[in-house]
This record gives sequence, C-alpha cells and structure tokens, in this order.
Amino acid sequence: MIWDAEFIEERERNAQENVKRTQFDADWDAANAQFASEMAEHFGCFRACRLRACRRARRCTGDAAACLKRAGISIPYDVTYRLVEDIYAETQQSRREAEEATCDADTY
Ligand SMILES: [Zn+2]
Repeated sequence: MIWDAEFIEERERNAQENVKRTQFDADWDAANAQFASEMAEHFGCFRACRLRACRRARRCTGDAAACLKRAGISIPYDVTYRLVEDIYAETQQSRREAEEATCDADTY
C-alpha cells in the first residue's frame, strides 16, 4: 500500500506551526499588556486619567495602554520594544524551565 506520507507530515507540521504561532502571538499580547500595566502603575497615571473609574479605583481599569495615552504619557518606542521583549523572554524562559522540571520529574 502507498500513501502520501509527505503530505500528511506536512499537514501535521503546519498544524503544529499554527498552534505555536497562536501561542506566541498571545504571549506577545500578554507581554504588551503587562508592560502597559506596569508603566501605568509606575507613572500613577490613574491620577491624571480622564476616566473617573480609574481615578476612583486608584489604578487603571481595563486597558492600561489606553489609560497611559489618556494620561498623556508616551514611552519611547525603543524603550517599549526592549522592555516588552524582556517580558516575552521571561515568559518563554519560565515555560522552558517548567518543561525541564517535568522532564526531571519523569526521570527520577
Ligand atoms: Zn485610566
């Protein structure tokens, strides 16, 4: 019997790539969100925010990036890029460590 093994492998590889890409996109989004919320907290931007909800809660309610913008705080692109990348790297690193920890647990 013959079958198109390459096609099947290719399909599986593509499916795996899609899963990875979706996960990594979500990780970048999360890194951006975490950065914005850390910056918003750092600058205490709720104090200058137009939204009463933010001022009342004494923190950003909801979208921290929007809160920063409303407070008139802009962070240079290169700084943002570097710090978001650090957060992303941390996420990947800790996932790898978690993976390695499970592998170790399997070995012993
Ligand atoms: Zn706000």
